[in-house]
Amino acid sequence: MEDVGVDECLTTCDGIYEGDSNHSRRRHHHHHHLFLASAKSHNKALSPATSVHELLQCPVCKNSMFPPIHQCLNGHTLCSICKLRVNNRCPTCREELGDIRCLALEKVAVSLELPCKYCSLGCMEIFPYYSKLKHEAQCNFRPYNCPYPGSECSVVGDIPFLVGHLREDHKVDMHIGSTFNHLYVKSNPREVDNAARMLMVFNCYSQYFCLHFEAFLLGMAPVYIAFLRFMGDAVEARKFGYRLEVGANGRKLIWEGTPRSIRDSDQKVRDSHDGLIIQRNMALFFSGGDRKQLKLRVAGRIWKENST
Ligand SMILES: [Zn+2]
Ligand SMILES: [Zn+2]
Ligand SMILES: [Zn+2]
Ligand SMILES: [Zn+2]
Repeated sequence: MEDVGVDECLTTCDGIYEGDSNHSRRRHHHHHHLFLASAKSHNKALSPATSVHELLQCPVCKNSMFPPIHQCLNGHTLCSICKLRVNNRCPTCREELGDIRCLALEKVAVSLELPCKYCSLGCMEIFPYYSKLKHEAQCNFRPYNCPYPGSECSVVGDIPFLVGHLREDHKVDMHIGSTFNHLYVKSNPREVDNAARMLMVFNCYSQYFCLHFEAFLLGMAPVYIAFLRFMGDAVEARKFGYRLEVGANGRKLIWEGTPRSIRDSDQKVRDSHDGLIIQRNMALFFSGGDRKQLKLRVAGRIWKENST
């Protein structure tokens, strides 16, 4: 997918700063039968947790062992994946491996409950050994990827960190306020190139929003899209709404939507057309008609949906 370049842009903001909206995350506490020390622990001594972890680590591949857990005649343990690879020889003592299960360790493994690895970022959830990895892939406290358009940036972090990163490292314009009026100018709208993704960040309702303006090819036709992403998770994003409009010469296109979470990549939002889409001919019409320059004035507003 190719993009159409945007050379220049200008924004005006109303500067209205909305008050605090306290949003607290619900934290879940679970009871558990065998709790192991969390990453927050400052205890340098070998805790019982650490030694149980070591017992459950396969000596060959270093992964956590799940039942069936095997052992040799001398009691050296091995995970079931490694067992298939070692030609019936214990990797530790070279004796014949046989087919002996280590039932005691299997029982420890299934009784184990572990804190989410993002506990230091605020997740209080405790999981059975088996479902911990599954949770961590979806954990609400997992760091966010940098929302800068494109996939070149691999920076991850929490929202305040990413706001600073966008400002300092990507030189993204930061605006305060819930309304905006932005002029996108491109001198040669026929040119299709890769430097076409514009990002601005808006700070209102004590939250951060990313306004994207991108050009792409829909089939053979260049198309422009503007959309808003929320710097936070999808549940929080649904508490807001936004409106974008673009027009000139008595015509106007209006889009109203819900911001998408930055958990969804800009590419995913663009591919789902979840935003204000401006066809090339309409964009040129709005630009004033000489077809030499693209000049789109996008006005918008973000609001907080009434909670019932
Ligand atoms: Zn192994
Ligand atoms: Zn052995
Ligand atoms: Zn978690
Ligand atoms: Zn970045």
